[in-house]
Amino acid sequence: MSGGTDWPKRRKKGPPSPPSTGSGQAKLPLAGEVIDLLAALELFPSRSNGVFHGNAMSSLLTCTDCPRLADFLVQVKSGNPGYHCKPVVPFGDDRARLLIVGLAPGMHGANRTGRPFTGDYAGILLYDTLHRFGFGSAPVSLAADDGLILTDCRITNAVKCLPPENKPEPAEIRTCNTYLADELRASPQVKVILALGLVAHKAVLMALGLKQSARTFGHGARHELPDGRVLIDSYHCSRYNTNTGRLTEASFHDVFRLVRVELDA
Ligand code: SF4
Repeated sequence: MSGGTDWPKRRKKGPPSPPSTGSGQAKLPLAGEVIDLLAALELFPSRSNGVFHGNAMSSLLTCTDCPRLADFLVQVKSGNPGYHCKPVVPFGDDRARLLIVGLAPGMHGANRTGRPFTGDYAGILLYDTLHRFGFGSAPVSLAADDGLILTDCRITNAVKCLPPENKPEPAEIRTCNTYLADELRASPQVKVILALGLVAHKAVLMALGLKQSARTFGHGARHELPDGRVLIDSYHCSRYNTNTGRLTEASFHDVFRLVRVELDA
């Protein structure tokens, strides 16, 4: 696996200064125009709104470092030729300040469509909530080519390949953690990390080289990290958690209110 990129920081939040229209004064380019120009000159990451383009991601697509998972993907593919059945790369805004970390692709969701949380139940509440809180251009994510745009938000998983019974083994979580660590290193502008579930919570701490014991997972818990970022926990938006009432739409929205407060601070 290759190392991460040292990307320049995202432009400051808030509207760009209006261009001068005064007589005799040259019009200043907007910040976004400058970034687009730099991107065209390959001096700045492109304004991608799709898969994440960190260096490590090129090796991610062909990664078979976890033999059990690689074998399982071959097996699932043979029965479902139309399924993605490869590692699922992160989706969203390359320069997002919010990084959402889930567990792993679901069999008939991300593993089918190739986009995190897309195609099965877990994504319904997530994408609807992202839309409500201004991160998504639409309330649903239907397919990898549906044109959905995430703004200031990117979604990734602790484990990028479909695990049997949705249960990655500890060694697989550790192996795939290299990609999450790369992604975090390559995204210094990420200000808030939202961990969906205990596995994601632990994976984030592992990726940042932090002790687990000092930061206990809890729905709505807020953890200040040494690098200035904030980790917020939520129960995973799985069908199991919503069916059992462990997670409700209201309590999920409450977590996103916390996220908004952090981003707007
Ligand atoms: S889970 Fe991660 S490390 Fe393991 S094979 Fe998939 S992409 Fe590679």
